[in-house]
This record gives sequence, structure tokens and C-alpha cells, in this order.
Amino acid sequence: MRVELLCTGDELVTGLITDTNSTFLEARLFDLGVKVNRVVVVGDVRPDITHALLSAASRADVVVVCGGLGPTADDFTLECAAAAAGVPLEEDAGVLGCLKERYAARGMSTDLNPGQLRMARIPRGSEPVRNPVGSAPLVILTLGGCRLFFLPGVPREFKALLDGEVLPRIRTWLEAEPGRTHRAFRLLRTVGMGESVLDQQVMPLAPSHPRVVFGFRTHAPENHLKLMADAPSQAEADAALAAAEAECRRVLGTSVYGADGEEYAPVLLDLLGRAKATLSAAESCTGGLISQQLTAVPGASNVFMGGAVVYTEKMKTAWVGVPPEVLERHTAVSRETAIAMAEGVRAACGTTYGLSVTGYAGPGGGTPEDPVGTVYCALAGAGMSTRCERLTLTGGRDLVRLFAASHTLEMLRQ
Ligand code: ATP
Ligand code: MG
Repeated sequence: MRVELLCTGDELVTGLITDTNSTFLEARLFDLGVKVNRVVVVGDVRPDITHALLSAASRADVVVVCGGLGPTADDFTLECAAAAAGVPLEEDAGVLGCLKERYAARGMSTDLNPGQLRMARIPRGSEPVRNPVGSAPLVILTLGGCRLFFLPGVPREFKALLDGEVLPRIRTWLEAEPGRTHRAFRLLRTVGMGESVLDQQVMPLAPSHPRVVFGFRTHAPENHLKLMADAPSQAEADAALAAAEAECRRVLGTSVYGADGEEYAPVLLDLLGRAKATLSAAESCTGGLISQQLTAVPGASNVFMGGAVVYTEKMKTAWVGVPPEVLERHTAVSRETAIAMAEGVRAACGTTYGLSVTGYAGPGGGTPEDPVGTVYCALAGAGMSTRCERLTLTGGRDLVRLFAASHTLEMLRQ
């Protein structure tokens, strides 16, 4: 099935808003095993919209059109659809009734103004479908062998009509396609492994899994591996995916922290929670990134007791008890300081584990031995000797901080 998307609106071609409707539709269709063939964006220019409609309809089986169904002067997508189909616009009594009902329910006048009346005018031969969350209806029009769906641009309405009306129809057509392919999909989320290393580990497996497409996506500080299996039946697609996933997990080991929608902080908190462990953190160069990531998860207080941003030497001593002589002898960015911070915050908060991180995020600072990008992170815990790691990070201040937080948290999983 060939699917195209046409987004209309001056705001989309003048940098005013980002086209999020396309992304939403693409993801939804991809879940059904359909890759969108083309996305076209046009401004509010009648001949451009009419031409784009005709051109998309000549290539595709399904065209989803978004925007320009409302009551304002710049909403004329259905006018262009009528021109493309060579039919007039006609007032639809059903749509008119729905609009009046909606306005009445909100205490508005049912004496519609010309803009509101225009929303009830649809191309002759098209099918209107009630919009449960807005005014303008979904309109379905057949042009040659192509079905066009006209949806409002407002994302909330676009999503509701897409999920409620458009996708169920597309799913039915897909199921009726002879010899259609079935698809199974898995996202493996890794952390602590560079993209090229991930590729080197995984790609040797690809030839043994001819039904599976391997794809990579960097999402700093993580790297994600996408596995997509195509087969003549769903059972075969599921089996091909399961075999590839098992092998990938075997070679990647604990670098894989989760799959599909699982995110890092909830997975880590869950792991600690099940071990009945508690956590605290003393952060210097990350300035609270670790605490922020953990507290973004609802219910984090079962595990994460608290932390301190100890950005200066004075605060490292005052709040987490780093001895002044350690700072003097070894500096604030050192193995000894990181260890004292982790042990200090753990003692102060009375937790099972204490994490710490101190480093030079740049662009200034650093020493010949410990240049910008050098970070020390430490983990102190009950019944274990405190561990410390020295990291050499690159990529500028933001990335150094992001990766420093990630590596520090990773000490808990390793
Ligand atoms: P309305 O009844 O609100 O006029 P409409 O169907 O005429 O709806 P537009 O006027 O084109 O739709 O867009 C309405 C609003 O929806 C825009 O101001 C914009 O904020 C948002 N919007 C439109 N298209 C997109 C898109 N592709 N992605 C994200 N938002 C969009
Ligand atoms: Mg509009």
C-alpha cells in the first residue's frame, strides 16, 4: 500500500510551528507495517494545494491530508479537493446538524456565521465523519483509485480522528491485501556502548537473520538497536524477531538495559527497589542531572532519598564532609574527592548506596594530567569497598555532563 501525507498551512512553511502531525502518523503507520512513501508540505496557496492533491492521488492508494478545514479565511483545503475532483462543494445536512448541536451544547449561537457554515460544505460524493473532539469533520473522498482523508490540523483532533477513524480503515484494507507481509518490531536500548561498537557487535549476526532488518539510532547518552522482521505470517515474523533479539542480547550483555518503551531511570529505580536498596547522590559537574533524572519518575522516593549539588570546595566539605586536606592535596576533581563525596552523601542520607560525580565539563578548567572532559565518579555501598572510575569524555559541556551522569548511574547496574 502506497501512503502519502500532505500537510497544508502557511505556519508550516514559515518556521512558525513544527509539523508534529506527520511524525505521529508515520509512527502509527509504521506500527502497522506501512512506511509512508512521501510527505509534502504546502503553504496556503489554492493552486499549490490542488496540484499537490492531484499529484499525490495519482501515485498513492491512500493520501492523508492535514489542515485547512476550519472556519477562517485561510482554510480552503476542501475547496481545493473539490477543484481536484471536478465536483462542486455542497452543504451537508448531517454536518450542519452536528455543528449546530456542538455550538448549542456550548451555549453558542446556532445561527452560524459564513465561516462556520463553510465547514459544512464538502465535495459532492465525499463522506463526512463526525469529529468527536472538534468542529470540522473528517472528510473521505475517492479520486480514481486513491482514497483521500481530510483531517483538521489541530494535533488533538488529528490524533483522535486518525486513531478512531482512519487507521481502522487502513488496517482493514491491509488485512485484505493478498500476500501482504507481516511485521514484528523490537527496540533494544543500550547504554555505555558507542554506536560503532554496537554496530561491530551486532552486524556479524545479520546474515543469519535474513528476515530481520537491523537499524541504529543514537539518542545520547544511549544507543538504540532497531530490529524489524518481515514474514508472510505473523507467527513467522515473531519467531524471526525472537531469534535475532536473543542473539543480540547475548552479544550485548548488560549494555541492554531495556526494550521498546522502557526508559533508563524507571528501569534502574525498579532494579534498586526490588533489591530494597536506597540511593543518594552528591553531584558537582552534573549540577543535579542525576537527581533530576531520578525524580522525574513517579514514585522515585521509594529508592532515591535525596542528593546535594556540591559545586564548590566549600560545599563539598560543608554538605558531604569531604575533608579539606583531601581537597588541598588532591584537588576537587580527583579520585580521592569523588570517593569522599560518595561516602559522605551516603552517610549523610543513610542510604544503601551513595553516588558521586566530579569533573571538568569545560570549556575552561582542567589540568595537564586531568584535562577538560575528565570526570571521576564513585559508588559507595554497604558491605563493599567504594569504587571509583575515571572517565575521559568529549563533545562539549552539555554532552560531557550528560555522559557523566549516565556513567555514574551505570555504576549501579554493573
Ligand atoms: P482550525 O479549525 O483550528 O482552523 P484546521 O483544520 O483549519 O483547524 P489549521 O488551521 O491548518 O487546521 O491548523 C490549526 C492549528 O493546528 C495550527 O495553528 C497549528 O497550531 C496546528 N497544526 C496544523 N498543522 C499541523 C501539523 N502538521 N503539525 C502540528 N501542528 C499543526
Ligand atoms: Mg485553520
